[in-house]
Amino acid sequence: MAGEKADAFAGTEEQGLKLCPLTNENATALMALFPYTKPASHKGHRFTMGFGDRLGLASPGHIRALGDHDIYPVLAQQSIRELNLTHRTFADVISAAAFNVFQEGYKKGYGADGDHLKTKDEIKYALSAGCTMVTLDCSEQIDQKAVTYPQAEIDALYTALPADVRGHYEGVYLDKELPIIGRLSGEELRRIVIVFYKGIEHAIECYRYIDEIKTVPVDFELSIDETLTITTPAEHFVVGNELHDAGITPISCAPHFSGAFEKGIEYAGDLNAFAHDFVVHQEIADHFGYKLSLHSGSDKFAVFSTVGRVTKGHVHVKTAGTSWLEAMRVVSEVDPDLYRKAHKFALEHRVEAEKYYHVSTNVNDIPNIDLENDAYLPEYMNLPAARQTVHITYGLLLEQPWFRDEFFAAMAAHEEDYYAALVRHLGKHVRILTAETDV
Ligand code: ZN
Repeated sequence: MAGEKADAFAGTEEQGLKLCPLTNENATALMALFPYTKPASHKGHRFTMGFGDRLGLASPGHIRALGDHDIYPVLAQQSIRELNLTHRTFADVISAAAFNVFQEGYKKGYGADGDHLKTKDEIKYALSAGCTMVTLDCSEQIDQKAVTYPQAEIDALYTALPADVRGHYEGVYLDKELPIIGRLSGEELRRIVIVFYKGIEHAIECYRYIDEIKTVPVDFELSIDETLTITTPAEHFVVGNELHDAGITPISCAPHFSGAFEKGIEYAGDLNAFAHDFVVHQEIADHFGYKLSLHSGSDKFAVFSTVGRVTKGHVHVKTAGTSWLEAMRVVSEVDPDLYRKAHKFALEHRVEAEKYYHVSTNVNDIPNIDLENDAYLPEYMNLPAARQTVHITYGLLLEQPWFRDEFFAAMAAHEEDYYAALVRHLGKHVRILTAETDV
């Protein structure tokens, strides 16, 4: 980089080139000079995909995995939980994406998602660091347990609500033929209100807050997926309609779909029931003018063709942990000793990691690594129980200096292998998701 432009960067001159360390300051300078390296809203793009990159290394593989498909990638996507577990900031995450975009010469734009944000403070933090998308998680305002309360308890809680809240819901939803879902009984409505009304209030409040503080266009996704029970069409409709009546059209909404969407492994559940539900959720999303968002979308190959077909490629799909697992697959190939140590550490610390992630696989299904030769090691990343164990312990592993240093050295020495692994694995996601669309 020569002349005046180079002065924006802190670095050293060498043979007419300026070498600049990959700092957040230099990323800011890069984004100012080359606007395509700066995250931007994905409004207007039909098919969008979130690619969480906990390592700051994966974006080139993600970009290449898109191939010629018209998919707008959200290359920077992290939750507060992920930031805490990896000791990174939103600025670090966005800088890594910006440098990777620059490296790839990728000029079609990308987004930055503050994922599963729960409070205004978290929203402020994400937006001030440059996030262009907020995924609001209302799970703390949603009464998770109310779904199981006996009706008498629901009714008692409902009667205790302010009269204007009850009047509002009864006026809008009772004794009416509602689009898509038909009629709601008083019992159904009271339960929905008790479970969701605080979450709805929180969503409206946070949306207004974003509107107030944003300095660039921001994509607002409402996530109600982190609940104990699946989202019924009636629940989804009421949530969507309340936002609509408040003048809010989110860019996307993530209901809790039927079946199990566990981290890093294939979908488990009744595929017909999923497809049946998904069609109704899509009708509701169409009715209110937003798209559905599929969380924990890593490795859910069994539902991808349904998702692509029903949404006609107008959808948001999030992936994250699977990119970390592909990094570990590369490690198993290029540094078997490190993989062995990490694998054992992951097994020893799985219970601790289960505090953060819900997983159901059984560690007893994992073949004893001491009995396997090096050639077998990559196979572990094909076994659900091993995948989940390595998946959920990423934060604990990355905190260990013995692991961290050797791991990043291996990744630096084999970055093309990592990109190739991501192209293969996430490319398969893209291929199946788009197979029945014109994306
Ligand atoms: Zn989610």
